[in-house]
Amino acid sequence: MANGTRKLSATGISTFLDSPKKFYWRYIMGLAPISMSVASYDHDRIFGTVWAEFVDRFYKGSTEAGNVQATFDAWDNLTDWCPEKPKEKLTKALEALTSKYYETFSPDDGCRHPEKSELWLENDRFCGKLDGLSEEGIIHEVKSTSRAQSTNEQLWKVQNSLQVRLYAVLAKAQGSCIEFAYKDPPHGLFRGPVVMYEPDQIALWEQEFNKIADDIDSRGDDPYNYMCNPDGCCIVSKYTTSMCPYQLLCEQGITDDTSIFYKTREQRKA
Ligand code: SF4
Repeated sequence: MANGTRKLSATGISTFLDSPKKFYWRYIMGLAPISMSVASYDHDRIFGTVWAEFVDRFYKGSTEAGNVQATFDAWDNLTDWCPEKPKEKLTKALEALTSKYYETFSPDDGCRHPEKSELWLENDRFCGKLDGLSEEGIIHEVKSTSRAQSTNEQLWKVQNSLQVRLYAVLAKAQGSCIEFAYKDPPHGLFRGPVVMYEPDQIALWEQEFNKIADDIDSRGDDPYNYMCNPDGCCIVSKYTTSMCPYQLLCEQGITDDTSIFYKTREQRKA
């Protein structure tokens, strides 16, 4: 990293590859927009966090009643800003999925070791929090998602995601098992088959991650070394228009007027 101290997460690397200047504002300057927004899918992101915490408690042996209570307490606290309609839709999904999880899976099914749940991983350049790891070193990654037309391709996309590859490198994993919790009706769960890794494959992924980290290091802290494709500044579709939350900083820089819309990000590590 430019300041030589902060480690790269999978989200940081994805941000850099998608929008280098957004990476600059977020990870080099450490700034985040103050306001949450349905347009930037903050409610979906929070749903994913709450769901991951629910599965963590499940594998640590929490009772269904206690786990569901903790899940809805967190969900209500974190979404008090969210408009009623999108919140209601996701609340219904959470009600259905929490109950199905206890019906479908067992904390003793070997998919996740209770002491390797929500596992912090790091080396000298990268870091991340893995959903879970089995006793045999198989990654257990849970995703709350909408149904795609093809489950196989949806599964392939997550199995080959930058996030899962980085976890595989950091955990020296033997393989991965991806699980979906469908947020749209009919609400349901899908656990994919275990995919095994060859050590050579993990070494090649590590080489790719190191090359990206070298690239970021070489750019330093000059914002003009971080150019985005302007196509990504404003996403316009039939149903939504979504402006990049850093557009104000890109157009006007950090001033007394613009800085009130951003806060300093909490840094989890270094
Ligand atoms: S407004 Fe555009 S240039 Fe600026 S960070 Fe966002 S995507 Fe990148």
